[in-house]
Amino acid sequence: MVGQQEKRVSVFEKMLTKTATVSQVRIWDSNKICEVDIHLPNVDFTKWNKTPAIKCRTSAMHYTDYTPSMWDKDEHTCTLYIDISHKGKGSQWAKAMKENDTLHYLHIDFENHYPIDGKQLVFLGDQTAIGHFCALQQLANDKAQISGHICFNEQQTAKDFTKNCTGLPIESLTGYDEIYHKTEQLIQQLDDKENTIFYIVGYAKMVVHLRKYLKSQDIIGNQIKSKGFWY
Ligand SMILES: Cc1cc2nc3c(=O)[nH]c(=O)nc-3n(C[C@H](O)[C@H](O)[C@H](O)COP(=O)(O)OP(=O)(O)OC[C@H]3O[C@@H](n4cnc5c(N)ncnc54)[C@H](O)[C@@H]3O)c2cc1C
Repeated sequence: MVGQQEKRVSVFEKMLTKTATVSQVRIWDSNKICEVDIHLPNVDFTKWNKTPAIKCRTSAMHYTDYTPSMWDKDEHTCTLYIDISHKGKGSQWAKAMKENDTLHYLHIDFENHYPIDGKQLVFLGDQTAIGHFCALQQLANDKAQISGHICFNEQQTAKDFTKNCTGLPIESLTGYDEIYHKTEQLIQQLDDKENTIFYIVGYAKMVVHLRKYLKSQDIIGNQIKSKGFWY
């Protein structure tokens, strides 16, 4: 649990951070993913054209990156999909979050990941990549062809993804071995390899492995956008 001491924000941290308000929290059936809706009244979402990352204060002087997604530029709201399946300060913080809480954050930055018009988009990632893929989809043209795989560490969360993220046309899997295998199948079946951009995010070892594999299949570097989210 996050202690009161950890929750209390010092004057110094108040000076460093900006605030958002938590408007809703939803925990998936598996208890492994937490969806947090936040209200950011002063953020101009109309300028967002790359995948964003918000550095949230998760305990005293400890900041963790999450990906704002599903933003509504008029309501000034967005959703964070937070993996709470591991023991980390971020997951402890998210588990304790309630409606109307104040969320303190350092800044919102942007990864150099964005969709490219006219290209097929293939998403490959793990449980930390849900927000990133939702954000890419939101930035993409309505006609963009999206496919890919997202892996979870067990079956219930993979099922929850299918139920809760119906708008994202990617398949949920139950482990890293499966994503390696499915990526090999995908490459063999892909018609227009040259016209495809691959986005790989999540566990750093998985990112390195998949990137190496794609390169071995003659996919050139600028077709692969990758980012290790955790180690
Ligand atoms: C740009 C960016 C965007 C990100 N967006 C998201 C997002 O939208 N949702 C999300 O859930 N994560 C996201 N992440 C990943 C998240 O920041 C890391 O997983 C972070 O380490 C979690 O912090 P923590 O305080 O809970 O754990 P830490 O204190 O950092 O780590 C505690 C221990 O848990 C391990 N660990 C850390 N994360 C995981 C994990 N996910 N699964 C299993 N073991 C883990 C560490 O290796 C360590 O041993 C993002 C990362 C980046 C860089």
